Amino acid sequence: MDVSRRQWLEGLGAGVLAGAAAPLGSPTRAEAAPEEKGIPLKDFEPRSMLHVPETRVPKARFPVIDVHSHLTETTHGDKGVAVGEEVSVWIAAKDALAVMDRKNVQAMVNLTGGHGAGLQKSLAAFDRAAPGRFLTCTEPSYEKFLEAKYPQIQADAIEAAAKAGARGLKILKTLGLYLREQITAGPLIKVDDPRFDPMWEACAAARLPVFIHVADPEAFFLPIDRFNERYDELGFHPDWSFHGRDFPSFQEILAARDRVYARHPKTQFVSLHVGHDAENLAAVGASMDRFPNMTVELGARIGELGRQPRTSRRFFEKYQDRIFFGTDAVPPPEGEKYPQQVFKDELYEIYYRFLETEDEYFDYAPAAVPPQGRWRIYGLGLPEPILKKVYHDNAARLLGLPS
Ligand SMILES: [Zn+2]
Repeated sequence: MDVSRRQWLEGLGAGVLAGAAAPLGSPTRAEAAPEEKGIPLKDFEPRSMLHVPETRVPKARFPVIDVHSHLTETTHGDKGVAVGEEVSVWIAAKDALAVMDRKNVQAMVNLTGGHGAGLQKSLAAFDRAAPGRFLTCTEPSYEKFLEAKYPQIQADAIEAAAKAGARGLKILKTLGLYLREQITAGPLIKVDDPRFDPMWEACAAARLPVFIHVADPEAFFLPIDRFNERYDELGFHPDWSFHGRDFPSFQEILAARDRVYARHPKTQFVSLHVGHDAENLAAVGASMDRFPNMTVELGARIGELGRQPRTSRRFFEKYQDRIFFGTDAVPPPEGEKYPQQVFKDELYEIYYRFLETEDEYFDYAPAAVPPQGRWRIYGLGLPEPILKKVYHDNAARLLGLPS
């Protein structure tokens, strides 16, 4: 934290120097009153003095399908790559259902359901425990990547997972940012590596949508310095930085992703986190215009959407049939580490407030300090027909649920 304090003070110093209009003989910084000397950035929690309407939205106006949650996760990993079939269950189905019922969430898609025996465990814990309320996805078995017939093994595993009850395939940013030629060593594997072509095709054949997350916020690819708008967040999670070393650039990852979309037009790609580029809705829209098989989801990005409410509103109007509601919810206690994703009532209320109201300048996460960047958001006040599609109808169509 000393670093942030020093950098904050340096920033303050630059501001004083820039203000060259200060007359000679005026007090210098060293003489300033104690309360003017600054506080560590981590202790700065300004309260808004705006007097504007604050609307509580305890229940969504229409039943919700949350297409992005993590109720289970592969237990073991090595350098960012999941290892083995064992999965951990983060919450009991009955406890998740209690939140869902209070918040009008009809169904949740559990993306990280694992594979093999792990997938079976996830399906038993959720899909079979409460039929219709949970839909679980499978994941690639990267630990088999070095086997000679891996491309076919992976394609066959998709078919088997679909037969077992999986409702989609989840791709974590492992692909492109962690998986390497020797799994955890050697050059990084590119998102469009042809060894995964049979897997994408198997998803189309089994009618499993691919929930894909590659890249990350643009700021994660930049130095962690005083110009980085996600300075606090990267301070808490330095492992989320993909700046330097041998990482591809943000643009290289998205270009590789686009080549996958182009090569597999029959495969449905749900591009999580608003196409992994919520800061640049023009670019997301351009990709959606190019690729009819591309849709997007909102998880953990209302902080981005809500600080550009007019651009976002136009985006929702134009692509209203191709946007899914999602939160990226992770149950506590794990989820408490990422307040913008913590699976609890408050999180859903913020999403509903953002989508349904025209409230101004409110927190995008249940946290004392905005966790993804120090700004607040503005509601979109979406009309009912768009709300109904985004909350429910688009996902029901994607997943083959009753509309
Ligand atoms: Zn996620």
